[in-house]
Amino acid sequence: MEQNWMRAMKTGNNFEMEFRILGKNGDYRWHMSRAIPVKDETGKIIMWVGANTEIQKLKEEEKRKEEFLKMVSHELKTPVTSIKGYTQILLSMMEDENEIQKNSQRVKPSLQRIDSQITRLTRLISEMLDVDRIKDNQLFLQKEIFNLNALVKDTIEDINYAYKQTHITLKIENVCHVNADRDRIGQVLINFITNAIKYSPDDKNIKVRVFQTSDDRVSVSVKDQGIGIEKNDQQNIFKQFYRVSGKNEETFTGFGIGLYLAREIVERHNGEVSVKSKIGDGSEFIFTLPVNTNTDTERG
Ligand code: ADP
Repeated sequence: MEQNWMRAMKTGNNFEMEFRILGKNGDYRWHMSRAIPVKDETGKIIMWVGANTEIQKLKEEEKRKEEFLKMVSHELKTPVTSIKGYTQILLSMMEDENEIQKNSQRVKPSLQRIDSQITRLTRLISEMLDVDRIKDNQLFLQKEIFNLNALVKDTIEDINYAYKQTHITLKIENVCHVNADRDRIGQVLINFITNAIKYSPDDKNIKVRVFQTSDDRVSVSVKDQGIGIEKNDQQNIFKQFYRVSGKNEETFTGFGIGLYLAREIVERHNGEVSVKSKIGDGSEFIFTLPVNTNTDTERG
């Protein structure tokens, strides 16, 4: 620091420096010092005007951004590499005119993989855009009255189609209509179910249940028998970019924004999300919405 200051004094250039100061409680905190010289008409420095600011928060933000970018590039690399690989396989199959006909059946699995990786990329991109929309207060809901059970059933069918090794059962205890954004609620459900699949490496039996806790509230629960979540982490997983750290962090890929979006969406519907879980013993994610009690306007 002294050296930099001496240099500024000598050259008359603006002085700027970031450094850490040890606080009373033993923590180092980042500070920034800045000084500019005030010169007389001959150019001689007559005094320095400076300020010292604590920038610890900015530094932490910077670090979080760096980590986020690292995570983004890591996440995008997997599907992109896979798409490239399958495209090359397909291209090599197309090289020989005589082989094309013979290969046409073998092309299908590669195309399916490409398709599913593109779906994954599209989801990642729209989730990132949603985070931005929330930040700018631009996440608008298009509410309509619809049958929640039908949405749950359709969503499970779609997921069953895409994830062949998974077994999802559905139990409907009540017939319920809600006044909500159908696509957004579908997105919450997809997030809960795909998480349940992702974080259950050994047992892919997933139970989905629709039930009413009172006359005017309906809940959807997604229960898995996967790795579970510790109590401490349960309070944090709905926060933006929060991922459970430890050896699993590398094993299970993700951005840490799905549950954050889920909570934002549900709370914007005057609903709530919750989790019950025990480490090693599976998790149950539940979202609850107000029931639409105005039956005159039901549209199915
Ligand atoms: P992502 O899965 O992309 O990391 P999410 O926001 O969907 O992000 O989830 C946040 C974190 O919560 C995950 O990183 C994971 O540690 C934990 N988690 C979510 N769902 C489950 C589940 N069903 N079982 C165990 N852990 C889960």
